[in-house]
Amino acid sequence: MDEKKFGLAGVLGWPVAHSRSPLLHNYWIRQYGLQGSYVLLPVAPGNLQAALSGLPALGFAGCNVTQPHKVEAMALVHEVDANARAIGAINTIVVGPDGALRGMNNDGFGYIQGLIDASPDWRADAGPIAVLGAGGAARAVLMALAQRGAKEIRLVNRTQDKAVALAAAFAGLVRTLPWESRHEALADVAMLVNTTNQGMHGNPPLDIDLRLLPLHALVSDIIYVPLETPLLTQARARGNRTVNGLGMLMNQARPAFQAWFGVLPEISPELRHLMEQSI
Ligand code: NAP
Repeated sequence: MDEKKFGLAGVLGWPVAHSRSPLLHNYWIRQYGLQGSYVLLPVAPGNLQAALSGLPALGFAGCNVTQPHKVEAMALVHEVDANARAIGAINTIVVGPDGALRGMNNDGFGYIQGLIDASPDWRADAGPIAVLGAGGAARAVLMALAQRGAKEIRLVNRTQDKAVALAAAFAGLVRTLPWESRHEALADVAMLVNTTNQGMHGNPPLDIDLRLLPLHALVSDIIYVPLETPLLTQARARGNRTVNGLGMLMNQARPAFQAWFGVLPEISPELRHLMEQSI
């Protein structure tokens, strides 16, 4: 085997053993007839700098970065693209030929592409959008919705101060509402997005009353474990279209794979099925 042609990438996080990314990337490595491997990189907090500086010497084409390192890693790479800088976090690193580390963030791309795959006629400007949550993922989702031409976003977070701080970057587009108003925030919306961790495996369901949510509204939950959160079950039962977070996960991986291995991979029905089976 030609070692120079062997592509190596991985996902760096803590904990990381639960990650579905190896399944995804190793499937594509096989599908496109490449030589390489995508591995788990469990890196404890405190070891991030040492781990990143070792990537070029270890022959890595790059890696994904996940919790808790997404923000700190941004300060440790040599270059950060404009999109990642605007989001304030990176989720992908590409090692350049000279060993320089370049940070990107594909979460917003993955989010929008996941929506379009599931609902091809989706438009960001179809009406007001309610976004619940103001954590790291919310920032990428808001940025992507703004870039796609959203006209009005109502941002609701348990800790309203965090929502206010986030909304400041989107003056005129994002309005914050107190957590107690989350039920009323759904009136007239074209879409509801959950970016909180409520409803994720191990957490209680999101506490929200959907009575005011129009039946034509799309309900998007970025959680993918479980594939159908209690929010999505409730929304589907009353007739709303729903989209889970698996499409976001799979689509954010595509530009990263392209940057490392030179091929923009496709999500085949077989791959989607394999990923669903893994959850
Ligand atoms: P994060 O930065 O820790 O933010 C967590 C969010 O959940 C905050 O808005 C937080 O509100 C809210 N929250 C926590 N406990 C709550 C409660 N009891 N009631 C109401 N709100 C509560 O996490 P993140 O990185 O943004 O991730 C959020 C979720 O998105 C996770 O479930 C993650 O798995 C998922 N995600 C999916 C993808 C994908 O590819 N599909 C990508 C990234 C993340 P406070 O500000 O008040 O604490």
